[in-house]
Amino acid sequence: MQKELRMEGKGMEQVPAAKSDEQWLTGAGLKATLPRVRILQHLKAAHDEQRHLGAEEIYARLYQAGERIGISTIYRVLLNLEQVGLVTRHQFSQGAVSRCVYELSFGERHDHMVCVETERVIEFRDAVIEARQEQIAKAHGYEVIGRELVIRVRRITP
Ligand SMILES: [Zn+2]
Repeated sequence: MQKELRMEGKGMEQVPAAKSDEQWLTGAGLKATLPRVRILQHLKAAHDEQRHLGAEEIYARLYQAGERIGISTIYRVLLNLEQVGLVTRHQFSQGAVSRCVYELSFGERHDHMVCVETERVIEFRDAVIEARQEQIAKAHGYEVIGRELVIRVRRITP
């Protein structure tokens, strides 16, 4: 049974809770294998917690839940999910280290701020930034087909 998921106080994205995990996968043209279902479930839970997970974190969560799914399988499943558009991959860099994180892709697109001290990820949408990106692309004779904006931030201490 699928737990109902909601975003606290944001209203930015809603998980379509009516669809089962299997329906999500088959609807995207993927066979509903056990690793795919389990990884999707953890990504849904992470969405509920407003978290973006790396492959190692997914591995750790699965391990804690008693699921033994190898890290290479996790990477392969994440790639499959990304290829069919169920999952979006982001590269969040912390100084010289860059980290790949994954989140479910549905609803409205958004950008990210990452706190360099706590690694907290803050999602936001800004119509002005989006419009400017469209204008800049257009001024160069292009249209925007994909975009990625990550702002590194540090909390201001008064
Ligand atoms: Zn996000």
